[in-house]
Amino acid sequence: MSQTQALMDQETRYGAHNYLPLPVVLSKGEGIWVYDVEGNRYLDFLSCYSAVNHGHRHPKIVEALTEQLGRLTLTSRAFYNDQLGPFLEELADYTHMDMILPMNTGAEAVETAVKAVRRWGYRVKGIPAEQAEIIVCNDNFHGRTVTVISFSSEQAYRADFGPYTPGFTIIPYGDSKALEDAITDRTCAFLVEPIQGEAGVMVPPDGYLKDVRRICTERNVLLALDEVQTGFGRTGKRFCHWHDEIEPDVLVMGKALGGGVYPVSAIAAKREILGLFEPGSHGSTFGGNPLGAAVARRAIKVIEDEGLAERADELGRYFTERLLGMGSPYVDHVRGKGLLIGLVLKNDAGSARPFAEALMKRGLLCKETHENVLRFAPPLVIEKKDLDWALEHIEAVLTGPAPTRGK
Ligand SMILES: *Cc1c(COP(=O)(O)O)cnc(C)c1O
Repeated sequence: MSQTQALMDQETRYGAHNYLPLPVVLSKGEGIWVYDVEGNRYLDFLSCYSAVNHGHRHPKIVEALTEQLGRLTLTSRAFYNDQLGPFLEELADYTHMDMILPMNTGAEAVETAVKAVRRWGYRVKGIPAEQAEIIVCNDNFHGRTVTVISFSSEQAYRADFGPYTPGFTIIPYGDSKALEDAITDRTCAFLVEPIQGEAGVMVPPDGYLKDVRRICTERNVLLALDEVQTGFGRTGKRFCHWHDEIEPDVLVMGKALGGGVYPVSAIAAKREILGLFEPGSHGSTFGGNPLGAAVARRAIKVIEDEGLAERADELGRYFTERLLGMGSPYVDHVRGKGLLIGLVLKNDAGSARPFAEALMKRGLLCKETHENVLRFAPPLVIEKKDLDWALEHIEAVLTGPAPTRGK
């Protein structure tokens, strides 16, 4: 049996089957490239759902990680550490917010945001105890904890995991009138993704976020943006909401904040909101640890020093134009911003999975989302010549005979 098959069988035998990976076993990564156990090279066009915006093992980030490994890694928040203060100040500056609460994963940051806006609802807005409501969108993705799936509209994420956490209202995405109608005296916040990545790279209509901002301000409701996937340059701006020139009240971050090497998440908010936490009200053993703080500080610096947001903007436009120019019989339309691009297949083209498998055979790793969408999201350090290489293979698959599904 091949080493690949043996490792896949081992994962399948001992691991819960909560994923369906493409049949490739990776053992090394460098920049935009990953290598499998047989030495084949692939261009990573998924970037771990935007957690690897910096590319694999970015030398500056590995340097920050190893330097910090040689000094101090974990302390708990029972003590101060010399990396956390600088990290919090730098991230507050970077987000134009007053305060930060650091956690580890995206879902934990979303949970933290839920706690923060509920607290504000009770202590500042004066919502009666236990009555706070948060409005969210249909087809949202905010993570996998029980509270977070409680306000998911996706059956696959929810089935047989109840009872669910109450206090959430789901409205259609991209519909500001629906938001206006859903707000009540008990609404503390509207939680929304500026682009819905997991839903298949859904881009809301122009002006949506501006309208949402205005409505939230008029109705005394907090606007919480989940930029776990869209943040840190991915969509061609530092944060996706910068395209709309608005300011959220709460900003949820994760994924690329960890520089592709270590889980770091956080929420940023105004003092009026994050100031409502007192000692003992929230916490995390690993949140704010010096290793994560050192990595995140460097991750932010690399995005700025290397102009990764500007690269995403420029290369995203180029890539989208080339995709549209292919005249593929399978493609319905292309949507997205920067280097977060969804290629939507026509109904009669079938599932996107065989297309992802065909691209894999040609050395390009990407993944279908929601059956008929291929998400293209390479590391932001990619160069135009490598995009051209990828485009050659994408064109061959999208204009060739219809790929068939592997076993
Ligand atoms: C990935 C993601 C999350 C959850 O992050 P985890 O680190 O997997 O918990 C939350 N929100 C959005 C928009 C995401 O893309």
